[in-house]
Amino acid sequence: MWRASIFTLYPDMFPGPLGASLSGDALGRGTWSLETHQIREHGLGRHRAVDDTPAGGGPGMVIRADVLAASLDAGLAADDPRPRLLMSPRGRPLTQARVRALAAGPGVAIVCGRFEGVDERVIAGRGLEEVSIGDYVLSGGEIASMVLLDACVRLLPGVMGKEASGSEESFEGGLLEYPHYTRPREWEGREIPEVLLSGDHAKIARWRAEQSRALTAERRPDLLKGD
Ligand code: SAH
Repeated sequence: MWRASIFTLYPDMFPGPLGASLSGDALGRGTWSLETHQIREHGLGRHRAVDDTPAGGGPGMVIRADVLAASLDAGLAADDPRPRLLMSPRGRPLTQARVRALAAGPGVAIVCGRFEGVDERVIAGRGLEEVSIGDYVLSGGEIASMVLLDACVRLLPGVMGKEASGSEESFEGGLLEYPHYTRPREWEGREIPEVLLSGDHAKIARWRAEQSRALTAERRPDLLKGD
C-alpha cells in the first residue's frame, strides 16, 4: 500500500477532494492510505502555541522548529523510507517525472506550512525537501499537498481505468497532449477531423504526434528546449 502521512495544522481539510472520484475509490479499496498528524498536539503551553514572531523582525509568524520536529519525531519512525517533503514556494517545482518517481516508491510524508513558513533549522535538522507546485503563493501547504497526492495516486496500479491512459498524456513524452474529440460527429458546425474517423491507426498516430509537436511549439516552447 502506498502511504501518505500529512503534518498539518488543519487535518480536517483531508481527505477533502481526494475522497472523491478516482483517488477516493482507491482510498476506499486500500490502494493507498492517508494519515494526518495535527502539529498542534505538540504545541507549547496552555494554548498549544506552534508559531512565534520572526527573528530579525518583519511581518507574520513562523512555525517553530522544536514543535514541528516533535510532531515529525512522534509521527514517523526514524527508519521510515519515505521522502519527507515540505510544501514550499521556494522548492523545486513539481514535475510529472518527479510525480512518477514518487508514485513508484513507498509513499510520502508531507509537511504543510502556514503563516510565513517554518523555521529554517527544522528543514535541515529533519531532512525536509522543499517542493513547489508553481510560481504563486498559497496561504498554506494543504492544497499544495493535495495536488501532489492527486497526481501520484492516479498513477498507482489499478487506479486509472486503463493502464495506458497514463503514458500518452501531456508531459509524459516531453510534449503536450494532442486534442480529443468524441460524438457527435458535427457540433455547432464544427466537425471531428476526418483523419480520426478514417480507421487508419498509423495515420491517426502520425496526426496526433504532429498535433502534439505543434501545440507544444506554440504554447510551451520551453518544453522543446528541454529546460
Ligand atoms: N513566506 C513564504 C510563503 C508562505 S505561504 C515565502 O514567501 O516563500 C504559507 C505556506 O503555504 C508555505 O509554508 C507552504 O507550505 C505553502 N505554499 C504556498 N505557496 C506554495 C507553492 N507555490 N507550492 C507549495 N506550497 C506552497
